[in-house]
Amino acid sequence: MESGTAPKVSEAVNGAGSDGAGSEERIEVLNPATGEAIGSVAVDSPERVAEVVARVRANQAEWEALGIEGRYRWLGRLRDWLLDNEDRVLDTMVAETGKVRADAANEPAYLADLINFYGTKAAGFIGEETVRPHTPLLAAKKLRVQYRPHQVVGIVSPWNFPLILALGDAIPALQAGAAVVVKPSEFTPLGLAEVAEAWKREIGAPDVFDCVQGTGETGGALVDNVDFVQFTGSDRTGRRVMARAAETLTPVSLELGGKDAMIVLDDADIDRAANAAAFGGMMNAGQICMSVERIYVEERAYDEFVAKLTAEVGKLRQGADDAAAPKDVGAMTSPNQAAIVADHVEDAIASGARALVGGKRVEGPGDYFEPTVLVDVDHSMKVMREETFGPVVGVMKVRDAEQALSLANDTSYGLSGSVFGEKERAERLARRVECGAVNVNDVLVNYLATDVPMGGWKQSGIGYRHGEPGIKKYCRTESLVITRFGGKREASWFPYTKSRRGLVSRIARAFNARDWRRRLGLRAR
Ligand code: NAD
Repeated sequence: MESGTAPKVSEAVNGAGSDGAGSEERIEVLNPATGEAIGSVAVDSPERVAEVVARVRANQAEWEALGIEGRYRWLGRLRDWLLDNEDRVLDTMVAETGKVRADAANEPAYLADLINFYGTKAAGFIGEETVRPHTPLLAAKKLRVQYRPHQVVGIVSPWNFPLILALGDAIPALQAGAAVVVKPSEFTPLGLAEVAEAWKREIGAPDVFDCVQGTGETGGALVDNVDFVQFTGSDRTGRRVMARAAETLTPVSLELGGKDAMIVLDDADIDRAANAAAFGGMMNAGQICMSVERIYVEERAYDEFVAKLTAEVGKLRQGADDAAAPKDVGAMTSPNQAAIVADHVEDAIASGARALVGGKRVEGPGDYFEPTVLVDVDHSMKVMREETFGPVVGVMKVRDAEQALSLANDTSYGLSGSVFGEKERAERLARRVECGAVNVNDVLVNYLATDVPMGGWKQSGIGYRHGEPGIKKYCRTESLVITRFGGKREASWFPYTKSRRGLVSRIARAFNARDWRRRLGLRAR
């Protein structure tokens, strides 16, 4: 574990893991909306992690040999399983995260779309490439590049979107031909375990996808054993994962935290901007790496925007929802995070900020923080500098667009952001925001635009998911230089006879020089 409250780890009565693997330790999983225990999983030891990785590695070559179409057929069955079992998947997810059902419902739909996206685009993204030689000296060669998968990809994932942030990375890796082992968050291990079980037993797919359970120790063991690491989580843990992967020279892709800014220009549709801020800041109880956390509003629009945002957030219904009484905002999934959110809000209020709505933790049962709008904030406060990752937005009045931009870029993070305003003016400003993706007159939506890459600048990460880079990163390039014709020996080979010595360099000079004197090997005048 990194820090803070770990889920309860206990000795198993019968010493058998969730999969009968014989682990002695179990992690008890709690429903954050009610505080009730809902299940447990066996902790996988480093030795067991090595075994699981070795097992899927042994099957990877056969999986790769199925080709893009063959692998898509199996992933298509996973898509069908997710859609056919949506209620079961959502029940588990709602129970282990404390999300409202509407937030959970996004996950199977996104994953089904992603399977089809990479299934139909993979040939274009990672299919073999033919390259024309750039120089006549290589005219006798055929140049090809093929993309071969890393054999085993290890995915270490967080608790805020337990399937999207684990399966969502496993899908392109499997489509690329890699075998995959996921370590889900210790707070939300159940849903992914259910999918891994279905892949093996219900779908009957090749044994190239599995999960291991536990805290940081299990995650570290996974890093030690795989050929590529896809990590999603805090920048703090990301650094540790990268340092550990450096020991074995294992490449990593890191999707880390954010402190996303929204800029509201005075020519924006203020109703749309306020509704978007409420949604972008409070969806999934603000536990999204791309949540709107900071808002900068041009002076002339400030009062109207704040009034509308406050009214919208004030109307949100919070709690454990059911079909009869649906809610908008769910629980804080990790108790550690609820404490961080409370600390940021208290720090801001102690330094002069005001909460126009919300501002405190809700008394149990369950772990909730009130949807909160803070004003009179500035960049000396944690709530405007550190990742809050809860249902809290800080709103600042700015002189003009330039000041908004400079404050938006005044951060160590750079995941994504949004600009609201007249289309062309907003787009011009959006191009200058320093982050991996910017939405103009919308929020969060870039995550669904899987056509384009998504990745963080600065401390928000290394590498990309989505688009072509989102599958290519799971591959190594293998260049093939194939001789189409040639005699018994090339002109550059032994023996270095008088006539052949320097022949190749003389020919190369003739092609590369850009004037006749140099082509002929004469000195410049
Ligand atoms: P975390 O960093 O605490 O944990 C993430 C995962 O790493 C967990 O599975 C954990 O068990 C594991 N882990 C912990 N220590 C480890 C170690 N030493 N070696 C290997 N694995 C280890 O993050 P969290 O609290 O689960 O998630 C919240 C964070 O995730 C936030 O910062 C959020 O912004 C970030 N996040 C980023 C994205 C993105 O796409 N950029 C998406 C979602 C969440």
